[in-house]
Amino acid sequence: MYLKDFNYLRPKSLTEACNMLQQHNDCALMAGGTDLLVEMKSGLRYHENIISLAGIKELSEIEESNDYITIGAATTHNVIVNSSLLKQHYPALPEASSNVGTAQVRNIATIGGNICTAASCCDTAPVLLASDCTLELVDINGSREVSVNDFFIFHRKTTMKKGEILTKIKVPKLKPGTGISIQKFGLRNAVTISVASAVALITINNGICVDAKIVIGAVAPTPFVSEAASKILIGEKVQYLINNYEVVDKAGDLAVADSNPLSDIRGSADYRKRLVKVLVKRSIKNAAIRATN
Ligand SMILES: Cc1cc2nc3c(=O)[nH]c(=O)nc-3n(C[C@H](O)[C@H](O)[C@H](O)COP(=O)(O)OP(=O)(O)OC[C@H]3O[C@@H](n4cnc5c(N)ncnc54)[C@H](O)[C@@H]3O)c2cc1C
Repeated sequence: MYLKDFNYLRPKSLTEACNMLQQHNDCALMAGGTDLLVEMKSGLRYHENIISLAGIKELSEIEESNDYITIGAATTHNVIVNSSLLKQHYPALPEASSNVGTAQVRNIATIGGNICTAASCCDTAPVLLASDCTLELVDINGSREVSVNDFFIFHRKTTMKKGEILTKIKVPKLKPGTGISIQKFGLRNAVTISVASAVALITINNGICVDAKIVIGAVAPTPFVSEAASKILIGEKVQYLINNYEVVDKAGDLAVADSNPLSDIRGSADYRKRLVKVLVKRSIKNAAIRATN
């Protein structure tokens, strides 16, 4: 199917983009276009005006401050993959971005587009949920910050309001003694959408797990933190987590109980639940090993 004609608007600043969003009724923002244009081409949506974010420099910068790495929303996955700041302070994000599509897709697709599409199977949301990061949203009236935990409300639905632009993702640097592991299962080794995924973040102190976050993707309308699976790990000896003691099995079961997967072309709900247990257990073990190194 061919794309219908649309007006292509190229603001040079955030203020100009906000004004355009206000002026045009039927419009959409476009970063890389790898979700938007596919949806428009397949007739799922149409907009008379497309506002490109590509010319707004501040949206593609990665900056370091004392406790955070701040990523512009229009930063491409390949820039994230190669960012030495992120590799040093939150390596799970470059790893998650490296799992997105092909090199060609990663060259143009952005982290902001990934989370604003808010597909339950998207690759970067689970590691962002594990990080407790903050998102900055801007509109003509100013800016506001929202925790990533309050951003996703359903498959392809977020708390972003009409007229808002996601500008920054503020990721806390990993604390010392913290390990994080991503487990993505797709139907092939590359260019694959998650059938299920799990992220574990484990912080240890004196050989004891003092903080844990288990996030699961593609098995509910949004990726989510399994509070029950996370809590049960706190206070456990790291060696128990590495050596797969009963508590790890229990965390897997709790994560399964929290999940609510669909059956679709990639796998049945039952298959996805089985995957959740395996992926959660693997992620806990790997994160615990990393936390000790
Ligand atoms: C071949 C192929 C393979 C893919 N594989 C994967 C994969 O393995 N894993 C995965 O997670 N995804 C995958 N995707 C989906 C897609 O590439 C990603 O979701 C990508 O990160 C989207 O970014 P984008 O910049 O292209 O978004 P766009 O298409 O430009 O935008 C997506 C949506 O977000 C909105 N938007 C974009 N930026 C902003 C902003 N700053 N503020 C507010 N709204 C905004 C747009 O209006 C649009 O609704 C794949 C896509 C293709 C075509």
